Amino acid sequence: MRIPIIAGNWKMYKTVDEAVALVRELKEKLADVNNREIVVCPPFTALHTVYKELSGTNIKLGAQNCYFEDEGAFTGEVSPLMLKNIGVEYVVIGHSERRGYFNENDDLINKKAKALLLKGLKPIICVGESLEQREAGETETLVRKQVFRDLDGIEPYQLKNIVIAYEPIWAIGTGKTATSTEANRVIALIRNTVKEMYSPLEANSIRIQYGGSVKPDNAHEILTQSDIDGALVGGASLKADSFTAIVKF
Ligand code: PEP
Repeated sequence: MRIPIIAGNWKMYKTVDEAVALVRELKEKLADVNNREIVVCPPFTALHTVYKELSGTNIKLGAQNCYFEDEGAFTGEVSPLMLKNIGVEYVVIGHSERRGYFNENDDLINKKAKALLLKGLKPIICVGESLEQREAGETETLVRKQVFRDLDGIEPYQLKNIVIAYEPIWAIGTGKTATSTEANRVIALIRNTVKEMYSPLEANSIRIQYGGSVKPDNAHEILTQSDIDGALVGGASLKADSFTAIVKF
């Protein structure tokens, strides 16, 4: 039984005051939810304050990125140790905006995943193809390659702490979504790749989310597909009503 995980990626939105206001609304609206794992990923500046707000609730805290070293001369970076220290549980890594704007590659994402797992944090590893890659018929090859590289060297027992998010880049923030059957097909392919790398047991238990313009009106259709175990939500996670409707799909 895979419990759906719905995570809100707030990206570079929300001051601390705005973050507190949103999370207060969410706490109230989502208090009755017990069949989903709910995660919010505010910007670094709001993490600690939001952590305090979330104490004793059913909403967990995630960060949007990290570096792979514990400490050192890495100006501007934040370490898994620091995130653990302020109550973060999940960390999104390999988001296409990080891969695209900041040149992050699978080798770096793999190092981050391992560093997070060592600290007892749970990576949400994003994979997905661009429009050009899709149109060139490269979706399957690319996504498989990302999964192989991002999970390289990760032990079978660690997989229970990993979530994969399939996010076709052309669907992020564009209002375009993959059809639910297409999203399910690629996610089943990712599951199959995990089976090749590990075993049917790990493949059947790992949670794989879909991300890309998930909204209240398409959430049910997407999130009831057989292989889709929740969503990574960008734009629609910035408002309490829309995020609540998605969580309660
Ligand atoms: C995202 O940021 O991961 C995302 C899926 O964004 P949106 O829901 O806005 O497409």
